[in-house]
Amino acid sequence: MKAGVLALQGAFREHREVLDALGVEAVEVRVPEHLGGLDALFMPGGESTTIGKLLDTSGLREPLQAALTDGLPAFGTCAGLILLADDVRDAVDVASPPALGMIDCAVVRNGYGRQRESFEAGLAVNGIEGDFPGVFIRAPVVERVGDAVEVLATHDEHPVLVRQGAIWAATFHPELSGDLRLHQRFLTEGTAATATLPTGAAEPELATAPKEKT
Ligand code: GLN
Repeated sequence: MKAGVLALQGAFREHREVLDALGVEAVEVRVPEHLGGLDALFMPGGESTTIGKLLDTSGLREPLQAALTDGLPAFGTCAGLILLADDVRDAVDVASPPALGMIDCAVVRNGYGRQRESFEAGLAVNGIEGDFPGVFIRAPVVERVGDAVEVLATHDEHPVLVRQGAIWAATFHPELSGDLRLHQRFLTEGTAATATLPTGAAEPELATAPKEKT
């Protein structure tokens, strides 16, 4: 299994470190050639407008869209979710063109407002036992999801973890939580049936990952 991490801007190193902890080969994706041979792709948090521009300057936008349409499993976190959404607005309801438009959902950037810019909340995630530590940093709010979108976790009645086919997206940062279970679950369930985690992958209960803010 080879997992890519979109490394144009933002918290890509933290995803890499989780993959290292899980014993999964990771490559940083900066140009179209880096998409070759990937079994999965992580799209990190950061600044979605910046990453969106860099998708154009790097020439990655179209090949990435094509790879995702062809079934490349992807997991976008925070800004990564914004890039994947097909309806993006800011807090004063101004729409911006979707970067990749792969998930049928409407998101409001920085939707929690200044009062709650960053916070942590225990999340009940469908299929994961006990609480999952949700680290939210200038997070988007998902206002609507289409019929093809499965909601795996909610917070304050809004979806915070969704999937549409092989594309998963979270408004929070599992890569900053110290809990590897969501990465592990995505890699197991979200990737092709043939893909399996290498033996000796870290036990989620025992493993730790870096806890750092973007
Ligand atoms: N607020 C950022 C944006 O709109 C996302 C924040 C994050 O990824 N932590 O792109």
